Amino acid sequence: MSDDFIDIRKVSVHGGHSGQFCHHASDSLESVVRAYIDQGFTWVGITEHMAPLSDAWRYPDEQADNLGADFLLQRFRDYFAECRALAQKYRDRIEILTAFETETYAGYEAQVNRLVEELRPDYLVGSVHHVAGHCIDYDAEHFNRAAEAAGGLAKLYCAYFDAQYEMLCALEPAVVGHFDLIRKFDADYLQTLQDAAVWQRVERNLDCIAEKNLILDFNLRGFDKATEQYPSMPVLRAAIDRGIAIVPGDDSHGVKSVGRNYVRGVSILLDLGVDTNWCKPALIQY
Ligand SMILES: [Zn+2]
Ligand SMILES: [Zn+2]
Repeated sequence: MSDDFIDIRKVSVHGGHSGQFCHHASDSLESVVRAYIDQGFTWVGITEHMAPLSDAWRYPDEQADNLGADFLLQRFRDYFAECRALAQKYRDRIEILTAFETETYAGYEAQVNRLVEELRPDYLVGSVHHVAGHCIDYDAEHFNRAAEAAGGLAKLYCAYFDAQYEMLCALEPAVVGHFDLIRKFDADYLQTLQDAAVWQRVERNLDCIAEKNLILDFNLRGFDKATEQYPSMPVLRAAIDRGIAIVPGDDSHGVKSVGRNYVRGVSILLDLGVDTNWCKPALIQY
């Protein structure tokens, strides 16, 4: 690590999916936590995907393997118990926050509120993985289906950012996850983002994030999945212009992706003059 990094604390505002509690991740949660400790992280928010509202809202791989919504809910409860136990066990070496990542399909708000009430997470990562009922980040086939249903790419982006805006207003999540995930399967995303109706929504959502003082997840998984981090550079610059707090999230899905792309990502933030005295998410008050 270069000298520039010596004083910068390693943190992740969005990460720690594990094979123990997420069907598309790998390894036990404890081995993931130990990987964060080994890499010298100061604090990490573990942000497992929320339990689905019903069988219809399971991810395609969960459906294929017949994991029912009841099973997934119980596993989600187990996740909270295990994450809190690990936070205690390793409290002298790392600060672990126990959080979760949201969805935005029909009925999500009541489901999120139920889970918050029962499980009392430290905070939420507000994420959008579905637009008009279609999963947009699972694979190109699902994404194309979503674009067709929306009537084109620009319209799909607009619907995505509208769903995000509605979620920001409904849930006020402390962290906004992978802001422009919608571009994952769009090779011409820089152009699509320039569409007037799309960009207007990007700015509206950033204004909302600034006004509510939410943290923007500087999502390092984008380097692996979509050429650059989320949010992409034009959005990132617009967020910086608004003084929005930007904090790295490695969005790890197993030991191997813990801290992945960290130096690369933080170098970009340093070049842009972003404050690397990372903000911690505001904890939900109970
Ligand atoms: Zn995931
Ligand atoms: Zn996500």
